[in-house]
Amino acid sequence: MRKALGQRRYLTNFEPHRLPHLFTDVLVLGSGLGGLRAALEAADRCDVLVVTKDAIDQATTSYAQGGIAVATSPEDNPDAHAEDTLSVACGLGHEAVIRDVAHRAPQHIRQLREWGVEFDRHGDGLAIGREGGHSHARIVHAHGDATGRELMRVLIERARRHPRIRVFEGCFAIDLLSHDGQVVGVVTFHPKYGHQMFWATTVVLATGGLGRTYRETTNPSIATGDGLAMAFRAGATLRDLEMVQFHPTTLYVAGAARALITEAVRGEGAYLLNRAGQRFMPHYDPQGELAPRDVVSRAISAEMKREHAPCVYLDVRHFPPGRFAKRFPTIERLCRDFDLDPQHDLIPVRPTAHYSIGGVRVDTQGQTDLPGLLACGEAACTGLHGANRLASNSLLEGLIYGQRAGQLAAERAEANGRRDHPHAISHLLPQSPRTELDLNDVVHSLQSVMSRNVAIERSADRLRETIEIIEFWGRYVMDKVFDEPVAWETQNMLTVALCVAMAAATRCESRGVHCRTDFPQTDPQWQCHIDLRRSDDGVQTSTAPVGEPGQA
Ligand SMILES: Cc1cc2nc3c(=O)[nH]c(=O)nc-3n(C[C@H](O)[C@H](O)[C@H](O)COP(=O)(O)OP(=O)(O)OC[C@H]3O[C@@H](n4cnc5c(N)ncnc54)[C@H](O)[C@@H]3O)c2cc1C
Repeated sequence: MRKALGQRRYLTNFEPHRLPHLFTDVLVLGSGLGGLRAALEAADRCDVLVVTKDAIDQATTSYAQGGIAVATSPEDNPDAHAEDTLSVACGLGHEAVIRDVAHRAPQHIRQLREWGVEFDRHGDGLAIGREGGHSHARIVHAHGDATGRELMRVLIERARRHPRIRVFEGCFAIDLLSHDGQVVGVVTFHPKYGHQMFWATTVVLATGGLGRTYRETTNPSIATGDGLAMAFRAGATLRDLEMVQFHPTTLYVAGAARALITEAVRGEGAYLLNRAGQRFMPHYDPQGELAPRDVVSRAISAEMKREHAPCVYLDVRHFPPGRFAKRFPTIERLCRDFDLDPQHDLIPVRPTAHYSIGGVRVDTQGQTDLPGLLACGEAACTGLHGANRLASNSLLEGLIYGQRAGQLAAERAEANGRRDHPHAISHLLPQSPRTELDLNDVVHSLQSVMSRNVAIERSADRLRETIEIIEFWGRYVMDKVFDEPVAWETQNMLTVALCVAMAAATRCESRGVHCRTDFPQTDPQWQCHIDLRRSDDGVQTSTAPVGEPGQA
């Protein structure tokens, strides 16, 4: 499959003279926080088309609970926020990026409030919560635990009202089109209009993460790593994909989907108990329940192993009556759906795949190493998170890098003018003689093998096996041309899963969220990024020094 990956530039067949064409200045892929923020910025100066594969609000952003990290209290300051982010990043964070983001956070929150985002208030100021790894309370939130929903409400309203933004919902971006080494547009599929070719001066990739490559994840169904796979096929560099963050506390009810219980619950004083009813976090870390996510996830995993238990428990029974329901109304409702009353019952939780720290390598403006392609949000790797994301820093990153990508895209459009002719790019792959596999089976098996072998703990043997298994499926899946989104998603998930496993096999040390049982120590020799690119042989892996922002 590695070879198949290397040789496969486009997933679909297309011929320009047979397809409808649309032209715009800036084309944004994805309607989450990163995509909508980029669109709103670019639309001040040029025409923007947003393409999104589901309904506009079907984005991971809509599910964000805890909030956005920003230093606002008199005891806090942006330098302390930067220090906390740097310390959690375990040597892979880019200090200049981190300081810049922490210092810009307050102005972005001010702007959101001016736009109408209703952050929760405490007296005259904003209510601020505490989350793991933060030395101060600094998480602003909305409607208790519905921050993402409130952000999306305001951004969608603004985008819909903007005369220069058009949004195409239910439109699946299959592949980036490139010509003379430059990204010039996208080939898409819409159930009503079929294949279409969209052309733009600049494409902004804001397609989110890859959580759905795992069986147990907090991510919604859109998070199939499409943008990462697309960028990889087009020749962009993917950076640090082995860094997949597991959220320590997702509700564990056998047979039900995994739903997140925000870290802010521990920030408000919840305890983690093992099956024996004992608090265990203080034995693992002096910060107890508020240790960084990787530490808490590994501690829970160790307790589950020790007790042969499927989960541990969150305990909020000591909260004053009514406090939990008021502060976390969504989680309260979720628990009630499963006949759990947090005031009296323990909440069963376990870690699941949550956030892709790695992504398409970008520089400080959001430029990838492909001319014409920018990236922002979870799909991008900016250097902010390093080897471990500090809670509530990703919405912040989406805001800041979304704005920058939008700004740069608009500048390019103004400088270069509208692209108004299609390029003669076509792709026709002959039918493969190999057997067709049941794609549903492939997806389920892929998710299982990723959850077993490329999760919180990894080892060379398991990673090698995983790569072999994915390559086997790939031989039968990557050789074909399919004609529906679920099949393209399967091909994308196989592509990114292989990249994650290969990056994890390459990094022979433990650092941040990447824990190798065969290399349990952090090794200074591995204080570097792992980059992956498509090559004629398949996937080319290399290392790059830290602090070097991704360079075009
Ligand atoms: C349950 C949960 C809670 C979280 N809570 C917080 C929090 O409190 N604070 C915080 O900072 N972070 C939080 N995060 C992380 C944060 O929400 C995400 O990292 C962030 O919202 C990602 O934004 P995005 O714009 O990059 O991607 P998304 O919001 O996922 O948007 C991606 C968009 O791309 C579209 N798309 C994908 N593929 C295609 C394709 N092939 N064609 C067309 N469109 C496509 C999708 O439909 C979607 O519109 C949370 C994550 C989860 C899962």
